[in-house]
Amino acid sequence: MASRVAVIGAGPCGLAQLHAFEEARKQGAEVPEITCFEKQSDWGGLWNYTWRTGLDEHGDPVHGSQYRYLWSNGPKECLEFADYTFDEHFGQPIPSFPPREVLYDYITGRAKKSNVRQLIQFDTVVRWISYDEETGKFAVTVETRGDARTRTEEFDKVIVATGHFSTPNTPSFEGFGRFPGRIMHSHDFRDAQEFAGQRLLVIGSSYSAEDIALQARKYGADSVTISYRNEPMGFPWPAGIEEVALLTNVDGNTAHFADGTMRDVDAIVLCTGYQHSFGFISGELRLRTRNVLYPDNLYKGVFWLDNPGLMYLGMQDQYYTFTMFDAQAWYARDYVLGRISLPPRADMAADIAHWRDRLAACADPFDEIEFQADYMMDLYKDVDYPSYDVDLTRAHFRAWEHDKEASIIGYRDRSFSSPCTGTVAPVHHTPWWQALDDSMATFLGGQE
Ligand code: FAD
Ligand code: NAP
Ligand code: MG
Repeated sequence: MASRVAVIGAGPCGLAQLHAFEEARKQGAEVPEITCFEKQSDWGGLWNYTWRTGLDEHGDPVHGSQYRYLWSNGPKECLEFADYTFDEHFGQPIPSFPPREVLYDYITGRAKKSNVRQLIQFDTVVRWISYDEETGKFAVTVETRGDARTRTEEFDKVIVATGHFSTPNTPSFEGFGRFPGRIMHSHDFRDAQEFAGQRLLVIGSSYSAEDIALQARKYGADSVTISYRNEPMGFPWPAGIEEVALLTNVDGNTAHFADGTMRDVDAIVLCTGYQHSFGFISGELRLRTRNVLYPDNLYKGVFWLDNPGLMYLGMQDQYYTFTMFDAQAWYARDYVLGRISLPPRADMAADIAHWRDRLAACADPFDEIEFQADYMMDLYKDVDYPSYDVDLTRAHFRAWEHDKEASIIGYRDRSFSSPCTGTVAPVHHTPWWQALDDSMATFLGGQE
């Protein structure tokens, strides 16, 4: 069994990993020494909101991409920890689409209960990871940020849980250099009120484009134009939001689109996604992928094919989040504890190829939901994660897709039942489109 394990990052994935080891230890297993390095001064990853953008107080890129008034974009019942239910945490049933602060409280609630904070070294950034063929160990160089000191430690296994929605993918368009208004990436978006009274252009056709367009309009933008590259989202947008073809150029503050239309706009938000960025990992160990449901070279979506002592958590595109991270964390743990052994390299490669072929055959979000649920089930079958009704979450996600098509401003007002406890979520006291206060106190308490 490994004697020293490094976990990089204390976001939802890293915390799931620490918790998984703690659970085994509590049940009497012998667990190696676990050390988690977290560059921020607190846990929660993206859910740990920061007002900062650009570089942080130490000159490193700001990790946070979440913004004020962010609400869950999927039913909470589809991400409920099977071993720490919403009922257990809140002591009362809560609506299905909580705001950020509420989910932050939930994630960190389980981490507090299992007392994993002691395993985390905060304000400690991993600068370099390499592998020594001779010793069979990983060298991890970290920098403590207060004093800017570096040191290198040896580990038998390394688990990378640094997320992949923090390094923006930022295309440019002709005329941007002379645009008179603000241009930013969604990574730097913090407060929709900034665009009140303005005509906003949003570029992209995925979750960030959808939500930032709605946010901006909800908090007072005059109009929002969404420009898509491949396909429009096609939701029934409320008045004041419209989708058009891809931006070709801007001339002054006039935006020109591929379909020949034009609009005058005051500001532009690029919702053009993120890059998987692992500048701190030696080239031969570094995952290179786009945002897909099954990145290449990761056996079971976790183990680096050429060196499975290196594991990556949460590197998939995500319908499922916290429960998928748990499945991966339990699997990684059981490999580290020697309870699961991995097959020969050729078999691992064949298994990856099988999943990637199946992914290539997915035609729409409904296929993708089944794909990711099946992937999770494939992990669950080998570990002792508590069972819950995964099929119910598939049905919830299908209903959610239909709800969004029926009403993009109303889908967050629906309620779902828990796959763990059966609890049916109450309807929130204020429709999402009217709910301007996203605090936990208002969400859990009375009327707005
Ligand atoms: P992260 O949350 O990104 O955490 C990674 C951690 O690693 C961070 O704490 C970071 O500081 C640390 N780290 C990074 N590099 C280093 C380093 N070199 N050294 C040390 N530490 C490092 N999911 C949902 O389920 N529901 C939602 O509504 C939802 N909304 C989202 C909204 C936005 C705008 C974004 C961008 C994502 C959203 N997500 C949502 C998806 C999100 O990816 C997951 O919920 C979750 O945060 C992923 O967890 P993670 O641990 O993989 O990564
Ligand atoms: P994403 O899902 O990876 O989507 C990236 C988008 O950028 C795609 O629509 C892509 O277009 C577009 N794009 C990329 N390059 C482009 C270019 N050169 N020109 C035009 N368009 C380009 O990233 P995301 O939307 O930022 O979502 C990231 C994560 O954050 C998701 O997990 C999401 O669930 C989460 N999120 C949640 C909320 C919430 O409300 N809770 C809000 C925002 C984000 P094509 O489709 O044409 O390829
Ligand atoms: Mg798309």
